[in-house]
Amino acid sequence: MADALPIRIQLRIVTPDRELVEGEVNEVSIPGKEGYLGVLPGHAPLLTELHSGMLTYRQDEMDFHIAIHWGFAEVLPDRVIILADTAERAEDIDVDRADRARHRAEKRLEHPSEDEAEIQEAREALRRAICRLETARHAKS
Ligand code: ATP
Repeated sequence: MADALPIRIQLRIVTPDRELVEGEVNEVSIPGKEGYLGVLPGHAPLLTELHSGMLTYRQDEMDFHIAIHWGFAEVLPDRVIILADTAERAEDIDVDRADRARHRAEKRLEHPSEDEAEIQEAREALRRAICRLETARHAKS
């Protein structure tokens, strides 16, 4: 007899500093490099690079949002493992700090140096800041 399909996903989200999430969820939306990837139990195995974006998971009818920045996701039928460079829960995002980071990055891009690496770094900083600001809007009060 074929194995029964899993009905939940074991989700683990870790950064080099900490573990943010370890638990059973119903579904996950992952900001992959090729776009958002919706994962339900029983998904085909895959490995994908992450983009800067908002990860959402559903647990007991509630949605939770996390800003994640780069890294990798491993998807298995009953498990999703996210290894992100940095990650913050919507509720933990310091909006003033992200706003300051956005202004700094915008200023750097208004008067860009000749150095392509510096311009790229400012673009990444801007992307992280915008992602944090957007994710923070989904914070549960
Ligand atoms: P900043 O210039 O404000 O430090 P950054 O984008 O350079 O922003 P990162 O290097 O991506 O910051 O992150 C450094 C650490 O600070 C990480 O642990 C990250 O999760 C955390 N962090 C960065 N910005 C915020 C924020 N606005 N709210 C909460 N945590 C943050």
